[in-house]
Parts: sequence; structure tokens; C-alpha cells
Amino acid sequence: MSTKPKLDTYRRWKLDLVYEPYLNTRDPSSRRAMSELRSGANRLRVETGRHEYMKLIPRKSNGFAKRRKLKREERICELCYAGVEDEMHFMWDCEAYDRRRDRLLSDLEADVEPWVLVALRMNNRSRMMTKIELADRYRALRHITQDKTVRLVTRYIRDCNRIRRSLIK
Ligand SMILES: [Zn+2]
Repeated sequence: MSTKPKLDTYRRWKLDLVYEPYLNTRDPSSRRAMSELRSGANRLRVETGRHEYMKLIPRKSNGFAKRRKLKREERICELCYAGVEDEMHFMWDCEAYDRRRDRLLSDLEADVEPWVLVALRMNNRSRMMTKIELADRYRALRHITQDKTVRLVTRYIRDCNRIRRSLIK
């Protein structure tokens, strides 16, 4: 079932930033969710788009249609078209998961500091987040370390994977 992920160093580093808090948990169900997250991440368009082609208009001179692979910035989320579908978009920006995300954030309320929620509520949709806001988002993710909050987030991602599978073909 699992194909060997060929993640380049940069992507692996980014994935670790996204998932790092959940790596430290000893809870078996969270570890299972973790591996689902990683394999789910390989199905996001930022990854699958590596193998998609864009047709180019044929040149009049020779009539041959040319094609080329999608660039990273062209691997747009097919659920909302509001950005590249990478891990961060999937987890915190995509409107397809808004309702589920609202539930996550209210579930987290009792166990994290208010600034963490503020940082995670921020998104890239109506305007681009600043570098500081993005850094806060990473910082907030690092504060999700208790077993309970880790479980809430991993369950959230698992549900989002399920929602995504039901919406995409
Ligand atoms: Zn989206």
C-alpha cells in the first residue's frame, strides 16, 4: 500500500515542522495517526503535482503541442483554489475543512494558551500572512505537546484526510 516516499530534504524538514509535536508522543493511536498523516501528505497536490503536466499552446511554426510539468506554485488546491495544496494549507488554510477546524480549535481551548489559538486561527485567505504570523503558527504547533491536545490534532488531521478523500474524485 505504501509507496516509498521520495521526499527531498527541504520537504522532509518542512513536514517535521508541521508534525514534530506529534512525533514525540508515546500514545499508540497518535503514532498510527502520525503515519497516516505522512502518507496523506504524499497525496496532497504539492506532491502529486510533480507528475502532472500542463499543456502549452502549440507554436504556429511547428504545430506541436508542448507540455511541461507543473511548477510548485501551480499545484493549486482543487477544493478551494486559494493556494498551493501543501501541508500547511491542508491543516490551517483550506476552507474545505473549516467546520472541522472550528471544532478542533474549540476543543483545544481549555488546554492551550490563548495566543496559540489566535495563531492557529490566522489564515492565508483574505490576505497573505506576514512572516511573523507564520512564525507564530510554527511556534503554536510546538506548544501542542500534551497527549490530550496531540490526540485532538491527530484526530482532526485524520478526519480532514477522510473529508478530502470524499471530496476529491
Ligand atoms: Zn484548499
